[in-house]
Amino acid sequence: MVTTIQSKKSQTDDQSPREIVRFEKIQYAYRSGKKQFQLGPMTLGLQSHELMAILGPSGSGKTTFLRLIAGLAMPSTGTIELDERVVFDPSTRVRAEHRNVGMMFQDHALFPHMTVRKNIVFGIRQWQKDDRERRLYELEDMLGLRDYLDRYPHELSGGQQQRVALARTLAPKPSVVLLDEPLSSIDADLRSSLAQELRDVLKQAGTTAIWVTHDQTEALDLADRIIVLNEGKVEQVDSPWELYNNPKTRFVASFIGHAVFLPGRLKGQTILTEVGTLNYLPCLQDFEDLEVMIRPDDVKATPHDAGIGTICKRQFWGSMQLYTINLPSGQRLLSTQPAHINWPLGTQVRITLDLKSIVAFPT
Ligand code: ADP
Ligand code: MG
Repeated sequence: MVTTIQSKKSQTDDQSPREIVRFEKIQYAYRSGKKQFQLGPMTLGLQSHELMAILGPSGSGKTTFLRLIAGLAMPSTGTIELDERVVFDPSTRVRAEHRNVGMMFQDHALFPHMTVRKNIVFGIRQWQKDDRERRLYELEDMLGLRDYLDRYPHELSGGQQQRVALARTLAPKPSVVLLDEPLSSIDADLRSSLAQELRDVLKQAGTTAIWVTHDQTEALDLADRIIVLNEGKVEQVDSPWELYNNPKTRFVASFIGHAVFLPGRLKGQTILTEVGTLNYLPCLQDFEDLEVMIRPDDVKATPHDAGIGTICKRQFWGSMQLYTINLPSGQRLLSTQPAHINWPLGTQVRITLDLKSIVAFPT
């Protein structure tokens, strides 16, 4: 669905930074028979030109989040502003077709009987001819589609179809573009390059976009910021770097990247763990028993007959290897090692933890 009505300030070529999406205490509730789902409460904002990913397991509310913005679902409470205009509050309900939102779904749903040119201008077919031709020219240039305008969708590669779908979505200059798992039907080996390409085009067009995915690699790779959803709750909104290095909840810590949680006990200025003592952090004083997040790259291991760890599994990842190490308590640690390291199963290792900062959760 692409809508075409726009306010003056919602032109994508306007460079002044502003808030394009604003959720104020938004809550959504769905109930049918025994089934219940709640999303929110959420208060958050999305800046112009920002590429935000929504990441979460299946059923966590990602699509519902987009539907709230598009006006295809209505919150039970709260306020939504799009491009500094209230589109939902207790007394306002702006309909989907008047929200100036562009949507792109996983099956690009190009019209098979229309040429690339006709597909692209579909949402602006009622524009003046000159304006329409100028917009088409801009888009064919930006997306490298000039040589394909007279082809039909089935004559294009997957990547080209994707660019046509994006051109069609961008044509009416939506204030925000919503992409719901745009690459989920694409083969894994192509997905990463198409994701990069899509990101580059969105950035080049100066678009504000929200990209839904359940694939954390894709989200970490692409997004300026990520909203992590879990069972309808916003767990954290942060940059990929912050989410990986400073997860605020245990869910985020375990969902993003690999982590194990090592039991520890707070004692004076330190945390005692099975593999040694870690330095005290003032923010931990509220709980005594805790779990310390350990990433595979935090674990330094060296083979040694007196080491307390035993290599019990190894996975070869091409550029590196992931070793699983068993501790005497039965606790396991993960450790990444360069690809040339070759430790047989059963090797005893000494372990040191090299933590840049300590992330811990109460047990
Ligand atoms: P995701 O996109 O993260 O997989 P969704 O937003 O599609 O999750 O769905 C979240 C939950 O909300 C699901 O359990 C879904 O069935 C339910 N849900 C929300 N709104 C509706 C609706 N209007 N009709 C049916 N199910 C809904
Ligand atoms: Mg979904």
